[in-house]
Amino acid sequence: MKIAVVGTGYVGLVAGACFAAAGIDVTCVDVDEAKLSALKQGDVPFYEPGLSTLVKRNASRRLHFTSDLASAVDGSDLVFVAVGTPPNEDGSADLSHVLAVARDVARAATHSVVLVLKSTVPVGTNKKVCEVVEREGKQRVSVVSNPEFLKEGAAVGDFQKPDRIVVGTDDDHAFELMSRLYAPFNRQRNRIIRTSPASAEIVKYAANAMLGVKISFMNEIATLCEKAGGDVEDVRVAIGSDSRIGFQFLYPGLGFGGSCFPKDLRALVRTGAELGAPCTVVEAATAANRRPVEQLFERMKTTLGGLQDKVVAVWGLSFKPRTDDVREAPALRLIEMLTHEGASIRASDPEGLGTAGLRVAQMKHASSVSLLEDEYDAVEGADALVIATEWEQYRSPDAERLQELMRGRQVFDGRNCVLPHDLVERGFRLHSVGRPTAGETS
Ligand code: NAD
Repeated sequence: MKIAVVGTGYVGLVAGACFAAAGIDVTCVDVDEAKLSALKQGDVPFYEPGLSTLVKRNASRRLHFTSDLASAVDGSDLVFVAVGTPPNEDGSADLSHVLAVARDVARAATHSVVLVLKSTVPVGTNKKVCEVVEREGKQRVSVVSNPEFLKEGAAVGDFQKPDRIVVGTDDDHAFELMSRLYAPFNRQRNRIIRTSPASAEIVKYAANAMLGVKISFMNEIATLCEKAGGDVEDVRVAIGSDSRIGFQFLYPGLGFGGSCFPKDLRALVRTGAELGAPCTVVEAATAANRRPVEQLFERMKTTLGGLQDKVVAVWGLSFKPRTDDVREAPALRLIEMLTHEGASIRASDPEGLGTAGLRVAQMKHASSVSLLEDEYDAVEGADALVIATEWEQYRSPDAERLQELMRGRQVFDGRNCVLPHDLVERGFRLHSVGRPTAGETS
């Protein structure tokens, strides 16, 4: 079988590399020539564990890269669309890239082809794409909705061992091709769930919204714990023990970020409003998601006696561990707020310095931010340390080194990932989310 994948980002490249590793002939297409030339050398231009090995192993054998869409479509049984669907100003998804690719594929096709929508797109998009391909092409193009559920940081494993593979199509032939393509990832049990295109589109948003709601809910419970003098960790363990609730996505913190949850929840709210089916729970979760960073900011301001001329070390810039993705990362929003109040920032991240550097450069107070490779260089002279992303290496800070290097004794753990004992023994105060402050009286 031969396929093309259009868009070589986190989703498209992972899908392309995993299909190639399973023996499929894959041509990846992108408009970004710099990205393509790196990939042709076997270099993955972003951080995703395990992906580089897969790309290197399959590049030039079964995994090809090109900017020429027509040559990729030629002879392909299926063409995947995995381009970005960023948010518009009003929260709706920008479909211009998806629709442009659909148009170009239809125009390029010299044989009947299955066009697979992997990008996250609002319900109704499959229909729109069908209209485009009918209008623009001479060949039959069957449009399948196949949303992706991989998580950055564990994307290769998620793709190769998916919980479910949702295939939204009314076309039996297209479904048969999709079933054959996914067979290598489906050996243990049938994970394919066949739905209508509209249901498949809704599944993706509903899944992300449910997870986002869980996070925002837990953050509100954390605030309640703080006000009432409870400990959200005890509450988390006790409610998570109920198998109807479960432990996943029950951690309070700085809120959800990344390229998916914030935009997908906003887009779902928008779709609901357009269809007269208001998604008020999701809307509330989105609004609640802004509060944790604001609360931390206020707490830092009060604890440090103002932020003017304060030096703040920030550990973690990516929106979660094991990725370099800083899109909508809470750390960057916090940094923007802190620098606006006159603080200077010394920040570190194991993988996200490059991507964060591009975002910081666009900030109003970019000159107040230093990005440092070593997290202990970052704490030098700092009045406070914020742990904004729970990377493994930040979970047991060397309290002795912090004591030597820092000017102040305040640690703000935005992810509840640090144990207090060592820090408290060295005279630090550890502020967490929804828990009593440790070292309060020392
Ligand atoms: P990305 O921004 O990392 O990659 C998109 C790629 O598409 C870029 O390389 C860009 O150059 C390319 N592109 C844009 N227009 C193009 C065109 N006309 N022709 C060829 N290439 C083009 O995006 P991503 O994170 O991989 O997300 C892609 C889609 O998958 C989005 O809809 C997203 O919501 C969805 N999704 C993302 C994740 C995730 O964890 N990142 C998970 C599930 C679903």
